[in-house]
Amino acid sequence: MKKFVPFLFFLSFLSVLFIGVGQAAADAPKLYLNGKPLESDVEPAVVNQTTLVPIRVIAEGLGFDVIWQKESKKVIVHNGETRIEFTLDDRTALVNGEAKTLLAPATAIKNRTMIPLRFVGENMGLDVYWDQKTKTVQLFQQVKPADPPPAEPPKTETPEIPAKGKLKSIEYNGLGSVILRYEGDVKANKPFVLNAPDRIVLDLPDTAFASDFLPEPPVKGTGGSLTVDGHPTLTKVRYSLYSDKPSTIRVVLDLTAPTNYTFTEGQGELRIDVLDAAGPAPSQPPATEPPATDPSKPPAKKYKVVIDAGHGGHDPGAKSVLGYNEKELNLKIALKLYELLKKEPAIEPYLTRKDDTFVALDDRAKFANDLKADIFISIHGNSFTPSATGTETYYNRSDSKQLAEILHQHVLKATGFKDRGVKTAGYVVIKKTTMPAVLVETGFLSNKDDAAALQKEETQNRIAQELVAGIKNI
Ligand SMILES: [Zn+2]
Repeated sequence: MKKFVPFLFFLSFLSVLFIGVGQAAADAPKLYLNGKPLESDVEPAVVNQTTLVPIRVIAEGLGFDVIWQKESKKVIVHNGETRIEFTLDDRTALVNGEAKTLLAPATAIKNRTMIPLRFVGENMGLDVYWDQKTKTVQLFQQVKPADPPPAEPPKTETPEIPAKGKLKSIEYNGLGSVILRYEGDVKANKPFVLNAPDRIVLDLPDTAFASDFLPEPPVKGTGGSLTVDGHPTLTKVRYSLYSDKPSTIRVVLDLTAPTNYTFTEGQGELRIDVLDAAGPAPSQPPATEPPATDPSKPPAKKYKVVIDAGHGGHDPGAKSVLGYNEKELNLKIALKLYELLKKEPAIEPYLTRKDDTFVALDDRAKFANDLKADIFISIHGNSFTPSATGTETYYNRSDSKQLAEILHQHVLKATGFKDRGVKTAGYVVIKKTTMPAVLVETGFLSNKDDAAALQKEETQNRIAQELVAGIKNI
């Protein structure tokens, strides 16, 4: 529920990046592609004020092939449509044969080729957002055809004409309102709603970011975001320079469910009030519960717990340094938890998968939503550098925070690993589920001590037992 000052936000984002270079790896921002973390052994780095990212993991995440030509020190990224050639220590890249200049030369860090983030965004069809709160760099593949185009902006004969309006700030007031302040003339298009995922989109034609909104002038497709806490459906506000000719700003309100809103235009101010989730609001609690007069009857309603073993089938998850796959470990813990919960008379457990099958992330969330589950627990193993170790727990919406904190303490007790804390992230299964939902990263399969401990059945049993204790503790 904090006020949001974009300029400070960006400065602090940059300082986080700068700190990340010299200090502990844990401070460096994480890379996300389409809401999923990109696992790389090299983190983004800032060199001479340019953010560099490992090209291979991003390119592969986008379905490109990556070729490394050792003799010529070239990295070639191609997907049949686009071919980009980088040469180590060279500031020129060839994009489909056309030479383009990088802000900084392609640089090798720990044997990985690092490319300026801005270039990657511009040339690989990505929108780039920085999220200070979760310390992440969020990359989204541009899916322009799916979005209805913004209403035709006013035609101007001279493309060099400056934008009529300047967006000065975007803030969330903590009470369901997103407020945009501007100077000059801003004629916003009518907001429109998109789904899968649910979002409200507001385009501001002929509008540019005020000079102090961002630390440097944004290029098309770049911007920032603001994480929202404490709203039933609104989780994030993203903004970017949607088009540069003419300058159009797009603001996107990310929602976890279809939500009604009102849009108000004031003097120097635009306001979107995000109301409760769409659909008839229950005026009073449903009177389906029978009066508890007959003590011999079992409880009318059991507490539904959905257990989600991460990955499965053709998606093995992380590979442990000891050879086993994350999907196997996740399933073992999930099945143990399921068996223990079945013995609890007040609890009805469910599994998103009970064997080695692939289940899409959206289907896992839908399964829990359709069931009207009470809580959702996703079980995973982590992977990073060999030295990274510990247990961490993720949640997305504030209604899941308490659950995350309770379960985290219990899992931590079970593993005895380093406490990496409770964190927020946009993983699909914890974002698209509508009940309190957490994702537990039990330990690092890339670390030989964590991997060995997790391989032991007694550790898996302890994790399952502690999760039960945690669930009963809620
Ligand atoms: Zn995983």
